[in-house]
Parts: sequence; C-alpha cells; structure tokens
Amino acid sequence: MIDNFDKYRNFIWYNGEFVDPRDAKLSVMSHTLHYGSGFFEGIRAYTTNDNQIVIFRLKEHVKRLIDSAKVYYVDVPYTQEEIEQAIIDVVKINEFKSCYIRPLVFLSEGFRTISITDDIKVNLMVSAWEVPLSDNEITLSVSSYRRMMSSQTPMQAKAIGNYMNSLLIRREAIQKGDDDGIALDMDGYVSELSTANIFLVKDNQVITPDLSSSILNGLTRLTVITLLKDLGYEVIERKIARDELYYADEIFVTGTASEVKICNTVDNIKVGSGNYNVSKLIKKEVKLVVSGQKEQYMDWLTYVK
Ligand code: PMP
Repeated sequence: MIDNFDKYRNFIWYNGEFVDPRDAKLSVMSHTLHYGSGFFEGIRAYTTNDNQIVIFRLKEHVKRLIDSAKVYYVDVPYTQEEIEQAIIDVVKINEFKSCYIRPLVFLSEGFRTISITDDIKVNLMVSAWEVPLSDNEITLSVSSYRRMMSSQTPMQAKAIGNYMNSLLIRREAIQKGDDDGIALDMDGYVSELSTANIFLVKDNQVITPDLSSSILNGLTRLTVITLLKDLGYEVIERKIARDELYYADEIFVTGTASEVKICNTVDNIKVGSGNYNVSKLIKKEVKLVVSGQKEQYMDWLTYVK
C-alpha cells in the first residue's frame, strides 16, 4: 500500500454527509469502475498573506464539474451552491491551511449495460489533501500519444476516461527521463501535457493552443491569459506547430496542481536563452493573486470562514 487514509484527515464529504475516509465504500459493480464514466475537479485552497483560508476560482471549478457531467447526459444531484458549500466545508472541518481538493462525480450500482440509465445512482465525493508546490524547472518531450479530438471524446470535459491517455503520456515521458510529455492533437498541432496546459513566449508575444486543439480549458490557463493581458502582453490562442516549441524564447505550463512551471528543455533542446522573464513574472503574479495580494482579482477567492 503506497497510501494511507490519514492524509485526508478526519472527513470526506460523501453524498451529503461527512464520513471517515476509511468508511466511504463503493460497490465493485459500479458503472464508473467498469467504464470510466465519471467527472472530477482539482482545486486549490491557499492561506493568504493575512492568514485567511481561500479557495481559488471555486465557482468556475464547480461549473466545469457540472458541465463535464452534462456533456455525458449526467445530472449531478446537487446544485452549484451545494457543491461549493461541500467543498468549503471539507477544507474547514479538516482544518486545512492549504490543500488540493478533489470533488468526484461517479456512477455506482444499478447498471446493466454501458448505457447510463436513470436508475443508476449518481454520487458526489469531496476529499482534500496537501500537495506541496515546488519551484523547480521541468523538462518536457513530445509524446508519441496524441490527444483525442472532440469528435471522438469531449476534451473540454474533465472526465475520468480522458486520463487513460494522460497516464500514458506521463509514463512515456518519465521513462525518457523527462517530467511530462507534450501531446499533439490528431492534426499534429501542440495540444497539452498529461494534466496541464502549455504556453510559449516568442518575441514578447504569448501563444497558447486554442480550444479546438483538444485541450482542457484550464482555469489556471484562463487566469494566466487574463493576468498577462492586464500586464499589457499580447496573448494569442491559436494552432501551434510542433517545431515552434524548439524556437520558443520561453515555455511555461499551467495547472492547479503545479500552478506555473517553467520548462527549460523540450526533446533535449534548450528553450531560449534561459532568461525566462515572462514566465518568472507570471509565476510571481499568480502567487500574489492566490495569496490575496492583488485587490483587482479578489473575486477569484472564496473565503473559508
Ligand atoms: N489539462 C488537463 C488534461 C488537466 O488535467 C488539467 C488539470 N486540471 C489542466 C489542463 C489544467 O487545468 P486547471 O488549470 O484547471 O487545473
């Protein structure tokens, strides 16, 4: 066993109740277990500079969870407000100062075939644990695995099944000695990493794959786009050719778990001159926002009281 339940502290929220994580049971005959039919989020809570606990972009994460289920004709049996409250309560009851929060919608007993019929139970679980942040730079390589097209599977849904592809991307990269892989889309354009979005900086312009490049529309991605535009940078969402990776001045990746990480090599080719000024600036800016030091973006923070 590589894990124990202590990291989830005393309670997880399971279908409206707080339960000891050891007691949260699931039937082996659950639809999600057989077919990968579930949806989830990854959200962070932070301690601000003045010692308050805040959850970053809570509303948007919960909206994305509900929307992910909606594409698959699954109604989450809780309202946006109820889910937000469950998430706040999990942080509060477990007395986390900062943590990674994992709401998960999954389908359990009652299934006969792959069809998601009305009598299948839709469950919601919210757990949280600490995931420390590190400031290390990363190395990437282009993956031999492609991201799927939205005509094959909805890529803007944060659906469990999509992560079978992600784990192959990550595994292959780690075997090569890199931190993660850059997946191309089915047309060969740059898409995203196993669990993060990618940005390139070239001649002071910031470029990131557009929504038709088989990406998850990351909340950190959207945050970074807003912050950079407000700082006066031109941010362009478009198709990115593979070889643009090798000519970029800077590359950084974004995601809830990793925040902003600077990439210094792609396929063993050094990225730019090593100055990485835009990446460092945006990394710092995100830190200021999540620690409540930017008046302008306080709307993105939900206080845990
Ligand atoms: N792409 C994928 C495939 C992901 O799993 C994630 C992590 N949720 C991201 C991008 C980044 O999204 P966010 O910034 O919302 O965490």
